[in-house]
Formats: sequence, C-alpha cells, structure tokens
Amino acid sequence: MQKSYRRYLLALGASFMMFACSTSQNETENNEPMKVVDHHTYAKPEEAVITHLDWDASVNFDTKTISATASFDISRAEDANEIILDISGLSIQEVKDGNGQPLTFEVGEAKPFMGSPLTVSLKPDIKRISIKYTTSPGAEALQWLTPQQTADEKDPFLFTQSEAILARSWIPVQDSPGIRFTYNAHVQVPEGMLALMSASNPREVSKDGSYKFTMDKPIPAYLLALAVGDITYQKIGERTGVYAEPSVIKAAAYEFADMENMVDAAEQLYGPYQWGVYDVIVLPPSFPFGGMENPRLTFATPTILAGDRSLVSLIAHELAHSWSGNLVTNATWDDFWLNEGFTVYFEERIMEALYGRDYSEMLAKLSLQELKDEIKNINAGEHPEDTELKLNLEGRNPDDGMTNIAYDKGYYFLRLLEERFGREKFDTFLKEYFTENAFHSMTTEEFIKQLNKNLFEKNGVPVDEKLYQEWIYGEGLPADCPIPVSDRFTKVDEVLKKWEGGTPIQQLISPEDIITEKWSSHEWIHFIRHLPESMTSEQMKELDDYLNFTYSGNSEILDAWFVHAIKHNYTPAYKNMENFLIHTGRRKFLMPLYGEMVKTEDGKKMAMEIYAKARANYHYVATSSLDKILDWGNNPM
Ligand SMILES: [Zn+2]
Repeated sequence: MQKSYRRYLLALGASFMMFACSTSQNETENNEPMKVVDHHTYAKPEEAVITHLDWDASVNFDTKTISATASFDISRAEDANEIILDISGLSIQEVKDGNGQPLTFEVGEAKPFMGSPLTVSLKPDIKRISIKYTTSPGAEALQWLTPQQTADEKDPFLFTQSEAILARSWIPVQDSPGIRFTYNAHVQVPEGMLALMSASNPREVSKDGSYKFTMDKPIPAYLLALAVGDITYQKIGERTGVYAEPSVIKAAAYEFADMENMVDAAEQLYGPYQWGVYDVIVLPPSFPFGGMENPRLTFATPTILAGDRSLVSLIAHELAHSWSGNLVTNATWDDFWLNEGFTVYFEERIMEALYGRDYSEMLAKLSLQELKDEIKNINAGEHPEDTELKLNLEGRNPDDGMTNIAYDKGYYFLRLLEERFGREKFDTFLKEYFTENAFHSMTTEEFIKQLNKNLFEKNGVPVDEKLYQEWIYGEGLPADCPIPVSDRFTKVDEVLKKWEGGTPIQQLISPEDIITEKWSSHEWIHFIRHLPESMTSEQMKELDDYLNFTYSGNSEILDAWFVHAIKHNYTPAYKNMENFLIHTGRRKFLMPLYGEMVKTEDGKKMAMEIYAKARANYHYVATSSLDKILDWGNNPM
C-alpha cells in the first residue's frame, strides 16, 4: 500500500483493550519453530487452519450487499474440535461440512475494529466447511459508488480494500497476514458489468454477468480483492495491461507505458516475477489510497494520472510488493515495516534502473523529509514508541501502525545496510531472501536471524546488535541515517533562496523551462514544500500567476500548494481546492488539507462546509480518519 498518513489520528491516540491473540508455528529455514503471535485475529491456526477457499458470490447493487457461500479446505490437529474465523458485520445463515451436513456454530461478541469470532464445531473427520452468509450494507471493506461518483457516470461501481483487517467484513476468513490459502471464485454481477479479482482475470465483459477466478498461489486474506463496474482493458506489454472506466483507459495506458520495463527491471534485481501477469486497475476517485498491491492486479488511484508520467513511482512501488509483501509477508501488523520498508527500497531501485540515480535521489530526499515530519508528529502524540520499526499494536487498531515510519525509516535502515556492505553483497542477500522465503510470512526477529547469518557472518563481519537496538527497537532517527544527495534539489534550493531575497520569480525560472518541463513534479513539490513559513498574499499571487499552481494537473502539486493557500488565506485558490476535495478520496491528500483548515475557527467552518458536500464520495478508510479530526457527528451540519 502507498503511505496512508495516519499522523492526525495518532495525535488523537485512541487506545483499546486487548481483545484476542493467536499463536501459530511457521517453520524457519533451520526448521526451528518460529513463534508468531497475531493480536488481530481470533483464529487459532495451530488447532485448525484454512488452506483453500471456494467463493461463490452474488453482488447486489440495489441492497449494497454480497450474498455468498465461502467453502474452505482446512488443515487441523487431530484432536481439534473447532475452527475459529474472523467476521465483521456478516449475517451467517448456515454452516455445513463437506457432505452438506449442518454444523453448529457460534458468533461471539463484536469488539471495536476486531469484529467477532465465528466458531464452528468440528467432528473428527471434517476437512471442509461451507459458510452461507450476507454482508452488511456498511461493510468496511466495500465501497459502493453511485453512477455519479464514477468517472463516466453510467453504472454503479464496487471496489474492496481489505488491508489491514477489513477482509473479514466481506468474507468470513482467518484474517491474519501469517495465514495463507489459495482460492477459486465464481462471481455473479449485473449484466454488462466486468468483475475483477486479485486472481486470473477476464479481459472482456461476459454475456450473463458471470465470472470465474483462480488464484493458485497461497495469499493472506488482506490480499483478497474485488472490483465491479463499467470497466475496460488495454494491453500494455507481454505481461502487463491496464483496466479503467472507458473514458479513462486511454490516459491510463499512456501514463503506464513503462510498466513492462518496470517488471523487467524488477526481475533483473531480485529474481523472477512469480504471479504471471501484472495488471493495474485505475479506480474511481474515491479510492482512499495511492495504490494497493492486490496480486496480479494493483488497485490504483486516478490521482497518479498526471498526464506526464511523473507519478509512476507509485506503480513501481505496488509492483515491488509482488516480492516484498505478497511473496514474503509480514507475519503480523507489528512487522508491517517488513512489507513497506523493503518495498520503498525496491521501488527506488526500480526507479533508479529506469530513470537514473539523480531521479531516484529526489525520491529519497522526499522520503527523508517525510520521515522527519512523521517523527515530529508521532512524538507530539501519545505513542512515541510508534517511531520504532517493530511495533506493538496489541489492543490497538492495526491502522494506527501504518505511518511513514514503516516506509521511510524502513527504507533508510535497508539503505544503511547497502552502504555498509556495498550494493553487490546486499543485492545477493536480498535476492536470496526473496527466493528462500517465498510464499512464507516473516517476523522481525526471524529477519534479523537471517540477516546475521546470510549478510554479516557470510561476509565475515561481526554481528552489530547496536544497529538493531537503534533502528528496529529504538525510537526516532538514528544518527547514522544515510544522507541522500540530490543536485537537482540543490538547484531548486538556490532558486528559493534568491526568490526569498527579493528576486522576481520570472528572472529565476524562464518560461522555456516551464514549457519544456525542465523540472519534474518532484522538483516542484520540493519547491512548494520549502516555500517560507510566512508569505504575503502578494507573494502567493506572484508565484501563482506565473507558475499556475492552483490549476496544476498534478495532484501532488495541488495538494502541497493548497496547504500554503490555507495557511496564508490565499482565497483565489479556494474554489479549485474545494473542487479537488470533493472529487478526490485519497486520504494522503485529504488529511493535510482538512488538518490545516481546522487550525483556525474560519478554517474549521470552511472544512465542515466542504466535508458536508464531499463526505459521500469518500471511502470508510478516509471518513473514519476525517470524522475524528473534524469531530463529525458532534457538529450537526
Ligand atoms: Zn506499500
């Protein structure tokens, strides 16, 4: 997943009691049992665990529900007398065994963010269970869009977001990243619509709205995904293609022209792509994240369609997850950095391979700034320990741990290892790591063990415990953090300095430079983020008249600019900002803007007015964050 900017929520510091925990045993490379404790599932996989899912489902847009039967093959201890699954808001109609005989079951008490345990009694010989159920219209993972909320305004649209623990709101499942299973599915949707999953996918609309899917590689529940709507496909390369609404497909295919090269570059780095095809679907604007790495089919926000291919590092990020995350998976959400830190590192290596070091160093610079900002934000809240890479989210919503720390501190830790050992040795280690641990889950402790053995000891270097104490189990940013060097940003800094000194912007950036796009969007973002803390409306206007930030086609630039507009009460930007907020559901963009507005009384009023118009367009993941910072519900609008 792309960064999700939980910082405002963290400051609020919601804390909950511990509700459940589970242990399971994975085998390590030494065949010693690796003990895994996942606080965020009711499942007891050491007693009975799912290994395969057959999902037969019907999607109903009128009732905003899915009616389905989920049948599981299970692996169990001989003496196990029950299997426990996670559910949230599901109405369970019946549970049967493999022969169609009814089984007794019990739905436990629902707890905040955890949902309920579904406990099914097992007789000695039972190896398969079938659960007939219906989702609730408010299911957290399901986003039901009216035609007006789509780009083409023709058909309704449905998409899912299962990470971290929302899969249980649309499929009864053992919802732990450490539990993997294969799946087949049959999905019935209204005629004329296309259905897609994180599996083998159709390219064309079927006659009767019936679709079949296969995922023959074992995946954890958070990678279950479904999208249904007026969707069309365009091939990009041998193994790559793009899905989108008809009016968006051309722009998407243009933007992602480099996808096939990205897959090639990634394979050159860390070994074969294991999932067959790699496609991307561009979702309607309410998708709350930048991207979600659903296997074979990345879900992406339309906000990366900048028209100039300048934001495609997001695709490199989601593609990299095909190794880090989807192949080698964090065993629990406490180990989330193993998914995201590795992915940011891998993403930057892909971008460097494709566009050069001076390009990827800009990304590294932006990452370091975001890391420093995040540490400041977290330290201002109730959980300064959240700046440690290894988290302890026991009793808390795992979303609380999805901060930039996992991404950027994780990246810099791996970059430090690269710089210490040299690229060649580090790449050898990483390639082996992905191959040896493919389709398994990984704890932080097991990773350290493998790192000691396969990087330190193998290269005759003494193990450095202090490194782990500071980077993985320590708070804040260690003093030996690598420092990226970007000449391109240095040039931007020089322009900024002269402008602050009074030189008109026209003398610093020539019209030709703007037209030929000499600066990439990253340089513009760096420029805007480093504008002075206090500016006059005249200064804002001078920049805007010449550089046209308020009407930029690039959503990253818009977002950074609108933060200044709010800070400095630059009213000419407000109309387009409101438009942007109503039509964009990406939480990364929403949080800084609403967060800035609520700092003043007038701003808060404006925020509430815009939110009242926009809220229906946002996903649960976004509204659950925004409701808190706006105190929505206590402020009747
Ligand atoms: Zn990610």
